[in-house]
Amino acid sequence: MHELAITQGVLDIALEHAKNFNANKIMRINLVVGEMTGIVDECVRFYFDFISKDTIASEATLSFERVPIKAYCRDCDATFTLSGLDWRCPSCQSCNIEVIAGRELYVESIEVE
Ligand SMILES: [Zn+2]
Repeated sequence: MHELAITQGVLDIALEHAKNFNANKIMRINLVVGEMTGIVDECVRFYFDFISKDTIASEATLSFERVPIKAYCRDCDATFTLSGLDWRCPSCQSCNIEVIAGRELYVESIEVE
């Protein structure tokens, strides 16, 4: 997925929430982003500054909570964090694994004024 489309989605969600609360200004948007999404924080910030210009979110700070990629081994029941390109189970070296965290991408909360 492209960062611009994601950023637009984040802005839309934040604006909709703010409207529901009759907020005048969005101060902060807290995002949860899994490492697997490949989202680059700086790109999202860059696009956000650009597309939020004429909205009540123009001064909002974006906060990113990163979720590491976690996997479960179907062979030995181990749960572990994946790093780099080694996608084998550290306990039994099996490749029979399932990704259980790291695909997250959502607006956790917003702070308004
Ligand atoms: Zn294993």
